[in-house]
Amino acid sequence: MKEHTYAVAVVGGGAAGMAAAASAASAGAAGVDAPKTARVLCLERNDEPGRKLLATGAGRCNFTNAACAEAGEVLHFFRELGLLARRDAEGRFYPYAGQAAAVRDALREEMARLGVVLRCNAPVKTLRRAGAEEDAVAGSTGRAPRARFEIEAEDGAVFRAEKLIIATGGKAGPQYGCRGDGYAFARHFGHEVVSPLPSLVRVVCAEEEKQRLRVIRGVRAKCSAALWIGDAPAAHAAGEVLFTEDGLSGICILDLSRAMRVNHRGARRIVLDLAPAIEERTLRDLFAENRAASLTGVLPQKLASLVETETRGNARAAARLVKGMAFSVEGTQGWREAQVTSGGVSLGEIDANTMESKFVRGLFFAGEVLDYDGVCGGFNLNWAFRTGMKAGLSARGAAADA
Ligand SMILES: Cc1cc2nc3c(=O)[nH]c(=O)nc-3n(C[C@H](O)[C@H](O)[C@H](O)COP(=O)(O)OP(=O)(O)OC[C@H]3O[C@@H](n4cnc5c(N)ncnc54)[C@H](O)[C@@H]3O)c2cc1C
Repeated sequence: MKEHTYAVAVVGGGAAGMAAAASAASAGAAGVDAPKTARVLCLERNDEPGRKLLATGAGRCNFTNAACAEAGEVLHFFRELGLLARRDAEGRFYPYAGQAAAVRDALREEMARLGVVLRCNAPVKTLRRAGAEEDAVAGSTGRAPRARFEIEAEDGAVFRAEKLIIATGGKAGPQYGCRGDGYAFARHFGHEVVSPLPSLVRVVCAEEEKQRLRVIRGVRAKCSAALWIGDAPAAHAAGEVLFTEDGLSGICILDLSRAMRVNHRGARRIVLDLAPAIEERTLRDLFAENRAASLTGVLPQKLASLVETETRGNARAAARLVKGMAFSVEGTQGWREAQVTSGGVSLGEIDANTMESKFVRGLFFAGEVLDYDGVCGGFNLNWAFRTGMKAGLSARGAAADA
């Protein structure tokens, strides 16, 4: 079955793909009148777009951060869609209503308003350049030959497009439809892919820590955390740690997991300072005066009794342990638990202003499929939306110019 040629086809209807499709279809982007007939196609594997978006920010969708590059553009984009944002004390932005569905629905409605053809239950199997014959036809009209693309879905349907945007995400969260398909597509077009690893993910501790973790599982504490590899510190983060049955979680631990992507030599440890605002000497004096009361004044109760048990009433040792509780690390949880993918299509091969491939004209990439991963706090969605907007605007602009 063959279909007519679309101006722009977007593969993947997640955060980046929806922003790309809406931007590509917007008349302002093209600098031309709104198209009478839809010429932008968005193909999504799931039976609805933006399924992962609904799970972000614990259902609240932390979609950008005051510290993100080009956060203003992302906020403006959503304001134009009628989405009011609320900023928290740490600069994170959420939809005012506090529901991720508001973000997903704003995008979906904008796509519908602009006439984007959204095909759900349409996993794409193959992407390829259309034959040289097609380029020659375009060339014979006096225009420079342009790339044409063919998109084949798993059910055999074939779509054609002048411009193609790959926004298939990475491998994080296969339950949301992300299986790393974009990497094979990118390689097919000659792009290098930095090997993908789970990132922003819980850390699994070594077997010897399990007994300790059984005592404190479920406890949350504010801390400053450092990842050590061999004898050298590799990364720092501050925030809340959550002790789990088999390891460590919480925002600061997820942030540290980003530094675990390199092939490390040497044992890995995470060292927690559980009272970052208090000097070790002050703690020692406090514990020497009235250890039991001051321990529970500084730490949650279960942690306090762990410190008491491990230091057997020694104030100096207790202070040292509170300032540097070390956990040997075995690794991280896998793709189902990871919030993002570290690695992906090499950024050096993409024009950062347009998101166009430097190798294949008319081919664009957006979102997590690229080799970018940010810390927690809205940086990853900001990247997905911003690169989606850029790719959509450039693709539609280029398609309209042609
Ligand atoms: C639980 C969780 C919470 C998160 N919370 C936050 C947060 O609060 N703030 C933040 O900044 N980031 C957060 N993230 C990360 C953020 O969701 C991602 O970085 C972002 O969604 C990436 O956008 P994307 O469009 O590139 O990829 P995705 O959102 O993963 O979308 C890719 C889409 O492509 C589709 N697809 C894949 N392959 C094919 C194919 N072959 N054919 C057709 N369709 C295909 C998939 O079904 C999917 O819908 C969170 C992630 C998770 C898992």
